[in-house]
Amino acid sequence: MIELFQPILHYGGHFLVPFVFAAILWRDDWKQAGLVMFAANLIDLDHLLAEPIFDPDRCSIGFHLLHGWEAALAYVLLLAIPRWWTRAFGLGALWHLAVDYGDCLMQGL
Ligand SMILES: [Zn+2]
Repeated sequence: MIELFQPILHYGGHFLVPFVFAAILWRDDWKQAGLVMFAANLIDLDHLLAEPIFDPDRCSIGFHLLHGWEAALAYVLLLAIPRWWTRAFGLGALWHLAVDYGDCLMQGL
């Protein structure tokens, strides 16, 4: 059953939930804010530095450059900048890490 739910949680978490957050936090500009949060998924580009680029049995958190605690700290600092788009990006990136971490837990990695 987890095999079926995991991809739904993963892609739903990465592609749909950012817009839900945006709708709650930036009511009037939710489309713009949602797109910025969605764009935070670009931190997955760090996978291109890894060999192999994608490994279903590997936990991204703590492995890839933009999925480590140093990066997470930078995303938290983005939240402190009083600009809606830096906050949207920081929150999107942190949410991305949370979704990826959920995957690791479900896979028992
Ligand atoms: Zn990721």
